[in-house]
Amino acid sequence: MALNVVMLGPPGAGKGTQADRFAAARGIPKISTGDILREAVQAGSELGRRAQAIMARGELVGDDVMIGIVRERLGRPDAARGFVLDGFPRTVAQAEALDALMAGRGALVVVDLAVADEELVRRLTSRRVCGSCGANAAGPAEAACGRCGGTLVQRSDDREDVVRERLRVYARNTRPLLEFYGSRPTFRSVDGARAPEAVAAALAAAIDGAADAGSGKAVEPFRELAR
Ligand code: AMP
Repeated sequence: MALNVVMLGPPGAGKGTQADRFAAARGIPKISTGDILREAVQAGSELGRRAQAIMARGELVGDDVMIGIVRERLGRPDAARGFVLDGFPRTVAQAEALDALMAGRGALVVVDLAVADEELVRRLTSRRVCGSCGANAAGPAEAACGRCGGTLVQRSDDREDVVRERLRVYARNTRPLLEFYGSRPTFRSVDGARAPEAVAAALAAAIDGAADAGSGKAVEPFRELAR
């Protein structure tokens, strides 16, 4: 059965890294709307030209544009066995559209990676990405990428003023999704303020547990209650 996962959480919680890892382990695509937009900016397409200034300010690209991108991406054959969405949905309107897109595709597992604000600012302002392959890295700017040898740079929206705006935008537009999804049996929250290895293990267990709950299989808490 398809494993459909949404990775929620504030910017800097580690969604991208964890989504990459989980998707690779399960052989399903990671779909990052931020990556799709950054590729469009690089390519200089119409979408990229429209998104560039919005992203530079740390604001959100319009719902209709984002929903269109995700609808098209989820329609490709590689997403039929499941996917990990990173960075989408970011608004309640996007979440409602995603529910509609999920009709006939099986359960949607939603995991929230929880990390406190000050830790997020620290992580984001010290984050570097490879200018060539886009990999996240912890090294100083200008160091070489461990994956491809490219040069590490700071993402322009990882400057502290933009980071603080992104966190405000998250609190206003995206945090309400915790309410939207929170009462579903397929929702889980994972403490993201730990070493990546520990987060990865907790995340995999949470996703598998939620997927079982979504498929109607008996899960641990229900057995506990039955005793
Ligand atoms: P991310 O890499 O997920 O932090 O995304 C980088 C930027 O791309 C965000 O700050 C937004 O400007 C834009 N973006 C990415 N995903 C979305 C989305 N689902 N809705 C609106 N804007 C988005």
